[in-house]
Amino acid sequence: MIDQLITTPVLSAKRVRLYLFTNFVASSTTACGIMFAFMITSQCFHCARVFHTRWRSIPPRKYCGPTCYRKANIRSPIERFLIKVDKTPSCWIWTGSTNPHGYGQIWIGRRLILAHRFAYEHYIAPIDTGLCCLHSCDNPGCVNPAHLRLGTQHENGVDAASRARMPRGTKHHASKLTPEKVRITRKEAGKTPQRILAERFNVAQQTISEITMHKTWRHII
Ligand SMILES: [Zn+2]
Ligand SMILES: [Zn+2]
Repeated sequence: MIDQLITTPVLSAKRVRLYLFTNFVASSTTACGIMFAFMITSQCFHCARVFHTRWRSIPPRKYCGPTCYRKANIRSPIERFLIKVDKTPSCWIWTGSTNPHGYGQIWIGRRLILAHRFAYEHYIAPIDTGLCCLHSCDNPGCVNPAHLRLGTQHENGVDAASRARMPRGTKHHASKLTPEKVRITRKEAGKTPQRILAERFNVAQQTISEITMHKTWRHII
């Protein structure tokens, strides 16, 4: 139903005929026919006012001025939202701009908000401050309200960790170690003092301790 609201004005054949007819009448019946021979009479798509354009602007302008153009082309936030959505049988894929984490974003007024949060607020309910909008399909680019639910920041973290979405190992931005260095550390843990290993790999002694106790880098055997 909402999709039907999005209509693009089409320059129909009937309208073109009207332009040509009115132009013919104007140029042939006025006293200053020379002037009107270089003008085209057309009707504004928005306010229906009859106005003149230069003959070379063919097809004739649709709107009498920039104000009418703006008023006629204004779109509601949900219309702009739906234009950027590609609905597949499962997920609704956001095709607009995304943030570095892959979440869609949309300008509403002067605020840039996340597209899936907008979808949730529009189709389900307003989101209380401090709550997160979580994906059950684990696709950050999805804006299907059926795949969204509310949760706290903590739940979001647990969710991300359980699906291994959190950066770990060398993918973490602050990582200094490599799987190779971790293996060496564990092999030499009993023989070499932790302080020496820490200096060798340019990390804190605490880090070496955690690696040897398998508290961190657990995905490396
Ligand atoms: Zn107008
Ligand atoms: Zn989805």
